Amino acid sequence: MKVAQLYEGKAKIIYSTTQPDQLIVYYKDDTTAGDGAKKAQIQGKGPLNLKISDYFFRLLEAGGVRTHFIETLNEREMLVKKVQIIPLEVVVRNIAAGSISKRLGLPEGERLPRTVVEFYYKNDELHDPLVNRDHILALGIATEEEMDKLKEAALRVNSILEPHLLEKDIILVDFKLEFGRTQTGEILPADEISPDSCRFWDKQSLQKLDKDRFRRDLGSVVEAYAEVYRRLCRQ
Ligand code: ADP
Ligand code: UDP
Repeated sequence: MKVAQLYEGKAKIIYSTTQPDQLIVYYKDDTTAGDGAKKAQIQGKGPLNLKISDYFFRLLEAGGVRTHFIETLNEREMLVKKVQIIPLEVVVRNIAAGSISKRLGLPEGERLPRTVVEFYYKNDELHDPLVNRDHILALGIATEEEMDKLKEAALRVNSILEPHLLEKDIILVDFKLEFGRTQTGEILPADEISPDSCRFWDKQSLQKLDKDRFRRDLGSVVEAYAEVYRRLCRQ
């Protein structure tokens, strides 16, 4: 099925397949933080992120949100629809944490009075800057209509994930989505939905169950990812 390696990123590798409209995403154990300044291999992270992403993509599809997901092939490889990634990181926030706390002085852990959606320009050289709608138009990244669609889709994803996770005793603090355009012009959520791209806090203890354990040197990174997967599988 695999034909050629197209791209190696920080956490995943993308391969072309015999089907021109399909790709294989290979989940690595590599992890990076602080713009790639901090790097490590976390044994077993790749397979956990794949299983968690598989779970969330299926949950979204069941909730009527079409995604790039086709099927999981093995413990590290997922078959997906090839899309033209829109170079935006769409961040949805229910609770203040991370960069919004630093930028706006909102205490970490404070629930936002309404859900905040932010766009960041996906550009490593520029360090993924926060951009507004005029910036996105000026850069020719997306149209007004597309931005509306991205925001609406991101909020819809949040409305499926947040209550579902709460039933598993996990608070969905925030998360990042990437979207892509298909050949037919559809805009689909792509990439991954995992503890690398979301903030998950334990409902009772508020313990972090996500990549902040790596970013902030809290230890037990893979154990936290495994705990998220264990709770998702819980009936
Ligand atoms: P980075 O590029 O930030 O280092 P990764 O290591 O996660 O990140 O690399 C995966 C790359 O694959 C990302 O650039 C992502 O935008 C891209 N990607 C994810 N899903 C798809 C898809 N369905 N079609 C095309 N590209 C995709
Ligand atoms: N995020 C991500 N990739 C990025 C930047 C952020 O997946 O390149 C996720 C991050 O895990 C968190 C959310 O987006 O769930 C918001 O991140 P924030 O802007 O607070 O950035 P941070 O301070 O974590 O770098």
